[in-house]
Amino acid sequence: MRLTFLGTGHAFFGAGRAQSAIVVEDSAGAWLLECGVTTSYLLKRHAIDAGSIQMAVVTHLHGDHFGGLSFMLLSAREDDQRTTALHVVGPPALNTRTRELLRALYAETDPDEWPFALEYHALAPGQSIALLGRRIEAFAADHMRDGTALCVRVESEGKVIAFTGDTGRLAPLSELADKADLLICECTLAEASQAPEAKHLTVADIMRLRPSWNARRVLLTHLSAQSRRAAQTLKGVEVADDGLQLEL
Ligand SMILES: [Zn+2]
Repeated sequence: MRLTFLGTGHAFFGAGRAQSAIVVEDSAGAWLLECGVTTSYLLKRHAIDAGSIQMAVVTHLHGDHFGGLSFMLLSAREDDQRTTALHVVGPPALNTRTRELLRALYAETDPDEWPFALEYHALAPGQSIALLGRRIEAFAADHMRDGTALCVRVESEGKVIAFTGDTGRLAPLSELADKADLLICECTLAEASQAPEAKHLTVADIMRLRPSWNARRVLLTHLSAQSRRAAQTLKGVEVADDGLQLEL
């Protein structure tokens, strides 16, 4: 399968990179991991047909992770004449929050009328679902006070992609990474003092935790300008950049 990293910046476009979104193309089709606000634009830039995306997996309800669903849905309806089903997997409130977002952006829009099947699948920590030949398993991320933020493991074609979403160091990261073919790991902060209240991983966290992760490959994403600079010296990890493609 092929992964294309559309956006590898943090919420505020760290170092001029786009918000989170990764396209995975496998033999069953294509799906998205996260849907930052820049997603629809970047799909077009990469000449990836948005209509080919069967499923979007969203880890939590922060705008740089689910905000792009609004434009993805509207362009599917208004511009692309999409007719094929779109499955959206994420925290239980994702459906409500996406409807609210659509109404906030375009007050006159109908957030319930879609000319294609739009299926929401609620996922909470400890749960897993099988969908379109893939299996998605959710763990509790250490990120939001309401406990709904997820880390996910997605299995497809016998390969496992583990993804931290946004998280602090208290998530079960070793379990998440266990024998994964690829661990995609957030690295928002160069050091904790950069944002003392934020629940994110720092470069020092990753340096300390890396030996306990037995994933075959670790790729850092969701980087600020400071963490992107600081992460260059880390051993045993790679730093993702916008447009990176890799085969699993
Ligand atoms: Zn977040």
